[in-house]
Amino acid sequence: MSAQTKLFLCLKDNFGVLLHDPQNGTTAAIDAPEAAPIETALKQTGWRLTDILVTHHHADHTQGIGELKQHHKCRVVAPRKEAKRIAHVDESVGEGDTVRVGALEGRVIDTPGHTAGHISYFFPAEKLAFVGDTLFSIGCGRVIEGNPEMMWDSLTKLRALPDDTQFYCGHEYTEANIRFAKTVEPNNKALAARADEVGELIAAHKFTIPAMIGAEKAANPFLRADNAEVAKSLGLAGKPAWQVFAEIRERKNRS
Ligand code: ZN
Ligand code: FE
Repeated sequence: MSAQTKLFLCLKDNFGVLLHDPQNGTTAAIDAPEAAPIETALKQTGWRLTDILVTHHHADHTQGIGELKQHHKCRVVAPRKEAKRIAHVDESVGEGDTVRVGALEGRVIDTPGHTAGHISYFFPAEKLAFVGDTLFSIGCGRVIEGNPEMMWDSLTKLRALPDDTQFYCGHEYTEANIRFAKTVEPNNKALAARADEVGELIAAHKFTIPAMIGAEKAANPFLRADNAEVAKSLGLAGKPAWQVFAEIRERKNRS
């Protein structure tokens, strides 16, 4: 059997997610926003926590680590460039490193911009990516420690993953992201289709995550800054993609 996942909410709008290898009985939590809901998810699934894979140092992704580590003696894997800012790190990793969760093999991708050392985890055989606060469905993280050029570069790395890759992100922001995206590309059909899908998911009290990279590329304006039509509609025809990205990010910050 291949990998299994369990998705749930933590704090206000953070996602907690477990990645489980049924062959070895190993289970990783991607980030640790809050210990209690992670413990509940472990109880519900009957899985044993063996690893925590951290995407970046922000408290809403790390504050549950201490309690979970104490209880489960799990291994904590974190971005090398932020290891000093995260408590209880056992292993620090960066671009190109392999992270094993039982038999599951993940590859680390440096995706700086939201924070300077932010990383994402891609499991090619499972076609799963865990992207923290770099990419959201129909949105992206705020550029806090990096600059727009760096963030755009990180987003293009995630965009280059296979179209049928499912990605899990750090927050449930999709509905608000869609409202904003429509102001950038009101006539984008893929965006309209995603808006319908998200409307149905929310009406059914379901999460809008995971999303698929291929569909996301067609609908998420933050992944479309190198599209000539998008640049033109923002009055930035011919400008480098990162500048178009910066303008979209700036408008979102003000929205
Ligand atoms: Zn964050
Ligand atoms: Fe966050």
